[in-house]
Formats: sequence, C-alpha cells, structure tokens
Amino acid sequence: MTLSKKQISEFNTILSDLHRDLSAQVESGKAATDTVVLDQSKVGRLSRMDAMQQQKMAQSTLRNITSRLQLVNVALAKMNAGDYGFCDECGEVIDPGRLTVQPEAPCCFACQSQQEYHPQS
Ligand SMILES: [Zn+2]
Repeated sequence: MTLSKKQISEFNTILSDLHRDLSAQVESGKAATDTVVLDQSKVGRLSRMDAMQQQKMAQSTLRNITSRLQLVNVALAKMNAGDYGFCDECGEVIDPGRLTVQPEAPCCFACQSQQEYHPQS
C-alpha cells in the first residue's frame, strides 16, 4: 500500500520542520565546537582534558545531527521527485509506521537491518 497524498503532505510538513530544526541545531552545534577551541585559554577551572572531552562530545553530536540532516534532505528530494515512501535499496514501499517514527528513513526495515550489519563506512 502506497502513501496517500494526505500522508505525503503530512510527512512533507514534518520533514520541513525537521529540516529547519536540524539546520538550527547544526548552526548552534558549530558555534559550540568553535567556542571550545577559541576559549581554551580562558576555560578557567576546566582542565584542557575536560575541554577536549567536551569538544569531542559536541563534535560527535554535531556529526549525528549533520548526518540526520543529510537524510532529511534526501527524503525531501525524494518527496519532490515523487519517490517518497519507497525504499532506496529494494524499491519496496516503506511501512508508514516506520516513517512516522523516522520520517527521513531512506530504506525499509529489512534493508536498514542489513546495512547495520554491514556498515559502509
Ligand atoms: Zn528495502
């Protein structure tokens, strides 16, 4: 069963909101990782190790947000192309329940599980 036009437009709204939120988070995340570097001389009682640890965490958070934002961008592009809701890998319809939880999901659950067992990176 494919998504109805109503569902598609609902997901379009969700993805657009997500895109805006994530973009804002990337911006503030970049600012956070920059701040740690710039403020190393005036971190006060924070040791250099703590500062580096914090920066690592900020960077890893930023990486997660950035990669999610990329998926959202891909999903929005698929939306424009009329391909939204179909798995990138096998072309099958992605379960709408799955899209509700993860609207940016690029592939169905079966393909996603396989990718997790065989990560490309
Ligand atoms: Zn699939």
